[in-house]
Amino acid sequence: MSYELGEENKKVSYTRYSTPSAYRESGAFLPKKLMYPKIYLYRLSPYMGCPKRCVYCFELHNSWINPDEVKIKTNTVEFVRDKISKQKQRDVILLDGYDCERAEIKEELIRNSLKVILEYRMPLLIQTKSDLVLRDIDILKQLNEKTNFLHVAFSITDLNHSHHQMFEAYTCAPENRLKAMKTISNAGISTGIHLMPVLPYISDTQEELERLFDKASKNGCQYIIYNPLRVAGSGPQRKKWFDTLREYFPSLVKKYEKLYPYEKDAYKFGHVPRDSTYLKELSKKIAILGKKYGIDNNINISRPKIDKDKKSITSKKQKSLSNFM
Ligand code: SF4
Repeated sequence: MSYELGEENKKVSYTRYSTPSAYRESGAFLPKKLMYPKIYLYRLSPYMGCPKRCVYCFELHNSWINPDEVKIKTNTVEFVRDKISKQKQRDVILLDGYDCERAEIKEELIRNSLKVILEYRMPLLIQTKSDLVLRDIDILKQLNEKTNFLHVAFSITDLNHSHHQMFEAYTCAPENRLKAMKTISNAGISTGIHLMPVLPYISDTQEELERLFDKASKNGCQYIIYNPLRVAGSGPQRKKWFDTLREYFPSLVKKYEKLYPYEKDAYKFGHVPRDSTYLKELSKKIAILGKKYGIDNNINISRPKIDKDKKSITSKKQKSLSNFM
């Protein structure tokens, strides 16, 4: 299966280490719709850091890596096997790391972990900006037959080529993510869009949102969940975001300073726009578009395909799935 990938970021250097963080209980920041309803309970991350260096990303605040470093967790597959084989519940795993495209092509930590996940029929949610996921469609098809929770979610900000170059130039082009989505959907696997981050006054216009929903509906997208841009009150993520804004959208700087006021020593994961009217209007706009294009605004877990072979694990899994609601 062919894939396009994003442009290679040659500034990034790779180091290798062994760590239990490759597979862990969830806890890191993710959008409300994934965190609070406990969509997933475990997180599989074979890499620390990311070569894509999107300007809004909070990886800049990751003190465990040097700037421009990505760490390869060499023990991932053995560790995943050890942990999963001892797990009593079939709880959903969130898998990220496809965005470390070149490292993953060499190391195959995700591919080999997927083989373990398939062996144990674990429910899985994949989140990525890369079409490298297509490399593993053979395993995903098999997993889809054995578990009743498999979703492949593509993170997309919008479909505007200039915005892609300004904010996430090293990522796989959004139109290629849509193509990958269509292939995943045609394989019978549930797929959707994590519309995040929504960039106020940039990617939230009626024109951009309408184009995204329209294309999404034609490429097999079942659901779109969204999260507005978060900006830290201070620190490197804020600096990088505002530097980029000054370069490309100087007229928006004042508006953004209102939405994201400066706060001393406020690094962590930032905050969404401090404007409830803005947030309500965005939510309304997205709900209307969802209805218009027949796209859910939630990951739909009510359409499991159950066959006789997997009934033995379904009862356990349904127990854990009920936690989602
Ligand atoms: S692809 Fe995701 S993790 Fe990587 S830099 Fe961009 S936002 Fe951050």
